[in-house]
Amino acid sequence: MIALLARTGEGGARGLTLFIVDKPRFSGHDFEARQPGGGTLAGKADRTPGYRGMHSFTLAFDRWLVPDAQVVGGEEGIGRGFALQMAGFAAGRLQTGGRACGLCQAALEHTARYVAERRQFGRPIGEYGLTRYHLGRMAARLAAARAITYAAAAAMDGGERAAAPVAAMAKLFACDAAVEVTQLGQLLHGGWGYAEEYPISRCVVDAQVLPIFEGVKPILALKVIGRSLLARGR
Ligand SMILES: Cc1cc2nc3c(=O)[nH]c(=O)nc-3n(C[C@H](O)[C@H](O)[C@H](O)COP(=O)(O)OP(=O)(O)OC[C@H]3O[C@@H](n4cnc5c(N)ncnc54)[C@H](O)[C@@H]3O)c2cc1C
Repeated sequence: MIALLARTGEGGARGLTLFIVDKPRFSGHDFEARQPGGGTLAGKADRTPGYRGMHSFTLAFDRWLVPDAQVVGGEEGIGRGFALQMAGFAAGRLQTGGRACGLCQAALEHTARYVAERRQFGRPIGEYGLTRYHLGRMAARLAAARAITYAAAAAMDGGERAAAPVAAMAKLFACDAAVEVTQLGQLLHGGWGYAEEYPISRCVVDAQVLPIFEGVKPILALKVIGRSLLARGR
């Protein structure tokens, strides 16, 4: 099924409605479904350099009938889709922070293993001070990302609205950490870090998308975190 936010009226954010749209199951990277009345729903996976385990699809709806019962919130939900969508963002940002921590952890583990095995100038590169310096910075970024993500999870117990600013901070910080930590890990792999044969190369491309989805990072800082700080001071 698809959670679909669609424009159903005038008035900016107030003219949006949230629907749950059924679609047949399919496997593969594109599909076209047909309804008895002639409606079609077609989808095609967008090719991406990373995050290939979870594709995004471009969808085309043509006279695709969605029953009234599938308007989220029923009659009262019409025109309230934006508010309903926003209410779910703290949870999405929290779990994106969690995914970022997972990538940092994976990058650290792959890198620690590699530097113990790779020898240059007669020694494993893990014995060089510069390698340990980078590993130390990677581990510290991971620890900080994890701490703020757990703080957001704890705040979520007090309700999604209260947790929104800290969930946004966790997402912002942990996703930046994932980009930095995976790239440092790649650097420590040298040329092999760019080869698909080594998992660190996948960590790097998977991390790239994290500061973009669930709220692109400058907008999170500006509109969610910055705005809530100034609102508190008023
Ligand atoms: C792999 C992937 C999966 C996704 N999955 C989902 C999903 O499941 N569900 C879903 O709803 N969405 C999904 N998205 C969409 C994603 O949430 C958006 O792409 C993201 O929030 C950014 O929005 P946008 O692409 O419209 O960028 P834009 O809003 O067009 O932003 C482009 C640039 O302009 C800047 N900008 C925008 N507004 C301003 C402003 N007012 N002032 C200054 N600068 C501004 C931004 O900072 C950014 O740098 C997914 C995206 C990707 C890449």
